[in-house]
Formats: sequence, C-alpha cells, structure tokens
Amino acid sequence: MPRKPKSPCSYPGCHALTDEQYCGRHRREEYKKYSRFKRDEFSKRFYNSPQWQRLRKQKLAINLLCEHCEREGKVTPATVVDHIVPIKEGGAALDINNLQSLRRSCHDSKTAREDGRWGNKKSLVRG
Ligand SMILES: [Zn+2]
Ligand SMILES: [Zn+2]
Repeated sequence: MPRKPKSPCSYPGCHALTDEQYCGRHRREEYKKYSRFKRDEFSKRFYNSPQWQRLRKQKLAINLLCEHCEREGKVTPATVVDHIVPIKEGGAALDINNLQSLRRSCHDSKTAREDGRWGNKKSLVRG
C-alpha cells in the first residue's frame, strides 16, 4: 500500500503538512474542543431523552419533597431531579438510586459547590 500524500493541516491559517486532518499541534487543540463539545451535546441529548424524562417523573412521584431540606427538617416541594454522583464524575445516569429530588435553589447551590471544587483543583495546578 502506498502512503497517502501529506496534506496541509485543516486548522485555519496553518500550513503544516500532515497525514491526518490536523498537524500534531492542532490535533491536540481540536480534540480538546471536540471533547468539550461532545460532552455538552451528550448532556443536552441526555436530558431530552424519553428515558431520562420517564425516570425523572418516577423519581419526583416517589420523592415529592426536596431531600436536602427534608434532612434539615424543612418541607419544601422538589422541582428538579439531580444526580447524587454527577455523570461527569462517573455517576450512573439512569439509576434511580443515584438520583435525589431537590428544589431549585438547593440544586443550584450544590452545583455551584461542585463547580467550585473543580475550579479549585484547576487553580491548584496553575499554582
Ligand atoms: Zn496545524
Ligand atoms: Zn432543599
């Protein structure tokens, strides 16, 4: 088999010749962008999927109240279903045991905490 001729990198403005779509430098960059895009696409599609919608309704039917507030002795109606172990951290997406009913503001503060944790990790690496 003859080798494919090299062609210029597909990255705008880059003329490095490569066997693949991108030169070594831009392959890495494009992959990073692509995997971030994929992750967003995945979660968008996941939260719109009939499987998730069904499971979500099931969960809210079992736990009508915010489980977070319940632990503090407060009674507030739940409006969102949240993954206890986030999917991005390897939590099971469609396991009802990995779900908790929360009200919006409890959910948002939990998410902010999670993001903060990730942010802290990043700033540690950066020094
Ligand atoms: Zn390139
Ligand atoms: Zn709550």
